[in-house]
Amino acid sequence: MIDRRLVLAGAGAIALLAGLRWWQGGEAAAGPFEIERSEEEWRRLLSRPQYEVLRLHRTEIPGSSPLNHEKRSGVFACAACDLPLFPSQTKYDSGTGWPSFFRPLPDAIGRRTDYAMLVARTEVHCRRCGGHLGHVFEDGPPPTGLRYCINGVALRFTPDAPA
Ligand SMILES: [Zn+2]
Repeated sequence: MIDRRLVLAGAGAIALLAGLRWWQGGEAAAGPFEIERSEEEWRRLLSRPQYEVLRLHRTEIPGSSPLNHEKRSGVFACAACDLPLFPSQTKYDSGTGWPSFFRPLPDAIGRRTDYAMLVARTEVHCRRCGGHLGHVFEDGPPPTGLRYCINGVALRFTPDAPA
């Protein structure tokens, strides 16, 4: 009987923790990820603005990223782990002040519903390290109709080598 009560108490505690986690919203995406580091390591590896976006889910000031104006052919990768995320051919000017894309590379992006603004939004993060990138909305251009609204500071652009 005692064992059974302990099990029930444990289940109750887990349910409570899960509830709190949901209520807080805007927390780190659930892992585990292929690349896991302590927050201390991430702080050391990333610049402060990168850390604040990728690890703390902050949003950069619109229009602040030089990548808004990047028009060369190349690849946008995760600034934390270098996983290629978006080919330049899928970038477009959404007029929002954040680099925007209509389609990520296959198996590059993880999604999660967040309630940070009290309405459900789809948060997107790097599939490999879990770093927060931005959000995806359903008001993008053809062919996908999706707008991946990404913090430029979370990306690293590598231009194609000149032919
Ligand atoms: Zn990453």
